[in-house]
Parts: sequence; C-alpha cells; structure tokens
Amino acid sequence: MTVEGACAATSRIATNLAYIRGRIADAAQAAGRSADTVRLIAVSKVQPAERVAAALAAGHRLFGENRVQEAERRWPPFLADHPDIRLHLIGPLQTNKVKAAVRLFDVIETVDRARLARALAAEMDKTGKRPDLYIQVNTGAEPQKAGVMPDEADALIRLCRAELGLPIVGLMGIPPQDDNPALHFALLADIAARHGLPELSMGMSGDYETAVRYGATSVRVGTAIFGNRQKPTT
Ligand SMILES: *Cc1c(COP(=O)(O)O)cnc(C)c1O
Repeated sequence: MTVEGACAATSRIATNLAYIRGRIADAAQAAGRSADTVRLIAVSKVQPAERVAAALAAGHRLFGENRVQEAERRWPPFLADHPDIRLHLIGPLQTNKVKAAVRLFDVIETVDRARLARALAAEMDKTGKRPDLYIQVNTGAEPQKAGVMPDEADALIRLCRAELGLPIVGLMGIPPQDDNPALHFALLADIAARHGLPELSMGMSGDYETAVRYGATSVRVGTAIFGNRQKPTT
C-alpha cells in the first residue's frame, strides 16, 4: 500500500467509527437510554493488521475476534503497545482451545453447551483467570448454527450459574440471515430479563440500530467499520 493509501484507510476507519458511534447514540436516545449504555465492539476477524492499527490510532480499544488461533497470532504485539485493549471472543469455541481462550480474552460470548461450560469452569479454577461469559442462544433454531436452542437456554444458564459458579453476565445472538432481526433481539432480551442478566450482545453492521432499540448493551460491527473482509469467514 502507498503512504497516501494507508493514510486514506486510517482516516476512513476513524470516520466510520465516529459515524457509527453517532448512530448508536441516536438509537439509544430514541429508546430512552443514554449512549454510554452501548459498547461498540469492532469485529476485526480476517481484516488486515493495518486496519486494526487504524482503529487503534483512532482511539478504539474494544475488539471482537471469532477464531482463537487467529487472535493469538494477531493481538500480543498490539496488547504490548496498548494494555487497555479488551478482546471478546464471538466465534465458536472448541474445548481444546479453552485454555488459550481463557488466557487471551476478556469476554467469551459463545458458551453454548454443558461440556464447554464445564471445561471453562475447570480452566478458571486452575488459573484463577475469570473472563466474563455470555451464553450464545440460537434464537432462530437453525441446525447449522452455533448457540444453545431457545428452549434449552434456561437449563444451560442455570447449570452455568448455580452448579458451576461461572461468571455469566449476558446473552449473545446472531439472527437468521433472512428473518426480521427484531423478533430475535426481543426473544434474546426476554430470556436475559427472566434470568436477571444485564448484558445483551446483538446487532451487526446491518442491524445494530435495531438491536440498540431492543436493549443491546454491545453491538458487534465489522464491515461497516473496516470495509469488506478479504476472504470469506463463518
Ligand atoms: C463477523 C461477525 C460480526 C460482524 O459482522 P459484520 O456484518 O461484518 O458487521 C458480528 N458477530 C459475529 C458473531 C460475527 O462472526
């Protein structure tokens, strides 16, 4: 990339961040909430390091990654320069990656089964490091998608909290591609409310304002900040 190209990309990402923060603030105000009740997670998966550096230069510190291994390669140098970076894991977690995930992430948003919950509890007991956890709910009950089924969410939440003593703070969801996302945001908010869980991670580039209206406390935005990802990801 040329120097001018790099500068243009940096200022474009700063502009996008400011623009999205403004729209989040407007959506929050329209819903009778203050703007600072919604966090913007910049989803940096698969994006080139220069774009991450641009977001950091713009003062952004909260990021989401969906693969443990990719995050382990990418973040240590950035963390050395900016110890106040906070990382959320937003992609599926295999039990053999639990140790690395607990080590690296501040928040793990994708707890969706008992076996994973037990592995996390064991690792937290061993290391004393206790990242906040979210339960991922498959609100559309899509067979190919991660997340606990809605009718099994209550049992998993109770297991995690009562039996395993895990620091469950909220719920995460990804609505089906072709559905009205509002229905899924409302369902997620409903489940969280009946368990007294304060955090709701929902809303992406295309629907984060709707998510804020339905109570999101974190929105996960990738392409609207960084531009298109250069290879497909799931
Ligand atoms: C990739 C991803 C996002 C961001 O998606 P965009 O449409 O690029 O904003 C949000 N949440 C999860 C779980 C993702 O995997």
